Amino acid sequence: MTGPRAFLRCPHCDTPAVVRSSVLHTKLLRESMLQCRNALCGHTFSAYTEIVRTISPSACPSGEICLPMSTAAETAAFKAKLSEGQRSGGKASQ
Ligand SMILES: [Zn+2]
Repeated sequence: MTGPRAFLRCPHCDTPAVVRSSVLHTKLLRESMLQCRNALCGHTFSAYTEIVRTISPSACPSGEICLPMSTAAETAAFKAKLSEGQRSGGKASQ
C-alpha cells in the first residue's frame, strides 16, 4: 500500500508541500496556505481548490449547488492525464 499523494508540490523545487491552514470562501472554493517540506527551500504559498464540475451526480443534491456535468471529452482527458501521472510517479497535475 502506498501513502497518500501530496496535495500539491512546491513549484520551485517539486518537493511535496504541507497544508498549514485553509479558509473556505464558498462551498465550491477553498484557499489553502502551504509550506514546502524541503528545509533548504522554505517556500510558503497559497493555492485555491475549486470544485468545477460533476463527474457523477450526488444521490442527495443540494439546491444551492449548481455545477455543470462533465462532458465525455473532459472525463476522457482527465482519465488520460491521470494515467499519464501514474506512469510518471503521480505528477498528473503538472
Ligand atoms: Zn520548495
